[in-house]
Amino acid sequence: MQNEPGRIAGRHFLQIPGPTNVPDRILRAIDNPTMDHRSPGFARLGQACLEGMKTIFRTERGRVFIYPASGTGAWEAALVNTLSPGDAVLMVETGHFASLWKRMADRLGLAPLLIETDWRVGADAAAGAIEARLAEDRARAIKAVCVVHNETSTGCTTDIPAIRRAIDAAGHPALLMVDTISSLASIDYRHDEWGVDVTVGGSQKGLMLPPGLSFNAVSEKAFAAQKTARLPRSFWSWDEQAGPNAAGYFPYTPATNLLYGLREAIAMLHEEGLERVFARHDRHAEATRRAVAAWGLETQCRVAKNHSSSLTAVRVPEGHSADRVRAVIRDAFDMSLGNGLSRLADRVFRIGHLGDFNDLTLMGTLAGVEMGLALAGVPHKEGGVAAAMAYLAAQAAPGIAKAA
Ligand SMILES: *Cc1c(COP(=O)(O)O)cnc(C)c1O
Repeated sequence: MQNEPGRIAGRHFLQIPGPTNVPDRILRAIDNPTMDHRSPGFARLGQACLEGMKTIFRTERGRVFIYPASGTGAWEAALVNTLSPGDAVLMVETGHFASLWKRMADRLGLAPLLIETDWRVGADAAAGAIEARLAEDRARAIKAVCVVHNETSTGCTTDIPAIRRAIDAAGHPALLMVDTISSLASIDYRHDEWGVDVTVGGSQKGLMLPPGLSFNAVSEKAFAAQKTARLPRSFWSWDEQAGPNAAGYFPYTPATNLLYGLREAIAMLHEEGLERVFARHDRHAEATRRAVAAWGLETQCRVAKNHSSSLTAVRVPEGHSADRVRAVIRDAFDMSLGNGLSRLADRVFRIGHLGDFNDLTLMGTLAGVEMGLALAGVPHKEGGVAAAMAYLAAQAAPGIAKAA
């Protein structure tokens, strides 16, 4: 077609905070014939995925459930398996994703109690308020505390142990539910050690897979809550999954080819080592913040200890359009950046630096942003790329010795 744009050479830079770039190794794993999901060979795959995901959630005592759904499905599974109509749930509105989870709770007939923030901090900024609300709740009407570990709309990460301590300090039995969709396999997370009851995950961010799988990691206490939980559930029922899962099977047709990819992703994460994966993300996030500071721009996250290692949301100066910056960068350099969501629409752009990502991916990304800021006429100082480069060179990747 004559009016179609011509071919664009080179790989698209997919630097949104999910879906992330899928490594070739995972694409090759997915690119296998679909198998019989009732066969013994499938059971080995199912077991490898269910057991492997425990090592990613860092749970030995808990169970893992895998759904052929986006992350939103696993949010719903967390709520409907444990709660009853009218149950109060305490939620912290750290940003767009926390507010969507709250909207889901409303629609399911729960009674969410919302603690608001300015969308520039993690939920641990509300730890005192959580403790106070739970301490006041003598009738134990609040059945769950729900927080987002890494708020993808703002680039703020929550200190989950601080939330656990707040619940324990109030001596309250509420379940702790945590959304790790954009932190799992990118930012340190420990389901058992941190006393989390339900952890929610998704495939298309730190796990380096395409969209289409989501996860619950479930404590014994949360699993037992099914006995009294009266919200209707069928597709999401943990009980329905648990039987077939015990032998590596699923109650309905699983996303077979995505599970090939998941098995490969788990192997790749362990080959690198989870600690090294987290350190890599921390290092790229710090380099990104140095670039933002050198540009003279501000991050949306305003508390140092809450800075996310999987993405950075950058505020554009008043009177300028973040969407225009993104459009210019997309058209000029074939790179996608994340947009501002709901109240941050057009106010921020988000740089994803998670998943299958290395120093040169970061340098390409930051160069695209710096050139894009200039092309879009956004006032900034030059030298962000240089500042990031200097940091990366000084903090050489583990295993790289610097010449004397
Ligand atoms: C991406 C994301 C979601 C939504 O997941 P979907 O896969 O789009 O349903 C929820 N919470 C957080 C923190 C996310 O980053």
